Amino acid sequence: MKKQEKKYKKSIPFDLSDFFTKLKIPMQLKKNPLKKRQLLLPALLLVSVFAIILIVLLLRAQRTVIVLDSRSLEMLPGEVYTFSVDGLPKKHDASELNWSSSNPEVASVENGILKANAAGGAVITASFGKAEVSCDVEVILKGYVQIDGDHYFYFDDGSFATTEWVEIDGVKKWFQTDGKEIVPTRMIAFTFDDGPTPYTEDVLKVLKSYGSTGTFFQCGYEVADHAEVEKMIIESGSEIGSHTWDHVSLDKLSGPDIQATLQKTSDEIFKYSGERPALLRPPYGAVSQTVKDSAGIPLIMWNITDEGLYDESYILTANAILRNPQDGDIALMHDSHAYCIDTVKYAIPILIQNGFRVVSVSELAEAKGVDLKNGYQYFTITGAE
Ligand SMILES: [Zn+2]
Repeated sequence: MKKQEKKYKKSIPFDLSDFFTKLKIPMQLKKNPLKKRQLLLPALLLVSVFAIILIVLLLRAQRTVIVLDSRSLEMLPGEVYTFSVDGLPKKHDASELNWSSSNPEVASVENGILKANAAGGAVITASFGKAEVSCDVEVILKGYVQIDGDHYFYFDDGSFATTEWVEIDGVKKWFQTDGKEIVPTRMIAFTFDDGPTPYTEDVLKVLKSYGSTGTFFQCGYEVADHAEVEKMIIESGSEIGSHTWDHVSLDKLSGPDIQATLQKTSDEIFKYSGERPALLRPPYGAVSQTVKDSAGIPLIMWNITDEGLYDESYILTANAILRNPQDGDIALMHDSHAYCIDTVKYAIPILIQNGFRVVSVSELAEAKGVDLKNGYQYFTITGAE
């Protein structure tokens, strides 16, 4: 059967090769143009897409992107923050960088310097051409804050300190009924004679705890026995004055003897504190013309004294100071007696609440603009003389 079929095929009565030739040629002619068109179109599309991507990438590469060193800030009123900006072209005009705040009452910004003004939120925006970046600012009331020049203390629950002492950085501060910290404008100098003693350090601690200072008029012979307190006095901002070597009544000495006891005392104080006394408290307040002429140092007297009171009670002494305090007063106490610690503990907070700062004699003189002169006696330092 198979052989017969083959034979039959071979016996087809027309030329097949011619038929195929005729058929193939038109087929190929038709196919080739079709293939070219089909390839051309996608290729063109692909090239365009690549070109677009390339252009976009090039444009993006050329566009400036600026970055702030902070994107969110929590600040207290009165605080200042200076932004730094990255991504700016190397050569650019500073005026091209623009700053703005969504709420200048809360936080204002100028030339990249941000200032927190009041509680609330604000968005700070920096723009350079089309580039823009922003930072969220939250101004909170927490801790010790300054508003319109006054200080307040805000607790974590949002309430603020009123009629109370709050310790800030180791210093007790008084806040009035309206929440403002009292800013003492008047001053009293506290002076302590006859030390140093075992009580001196405690007196110093009380002074420090209220941000106060004092002047310690010391006898030279006591210094070596309490050497450790000498540097503490200087480091805490208080000062050491001379009270002679052995509490001698200077009006009974000759000029050279006055100078000798003061020199010896000065050397001893310098040895342990690193500073020479710049002020003299004459023992018993005994001053003669010879003392004035030869002391070579200002003579610091007093207008308030604990003398005759400290054996009674520390409150009596404190009351001597508190009865009628005046700006420029110089109060005399004795750190050779334990009562002195309680006196300062009692008197200082009351003085602060009444607008007085407790300071050393030198601080008082400086604040009043008084240049203390050698051999002159000062009972008060008001700056009016
Ligand atoms: Zn004395």
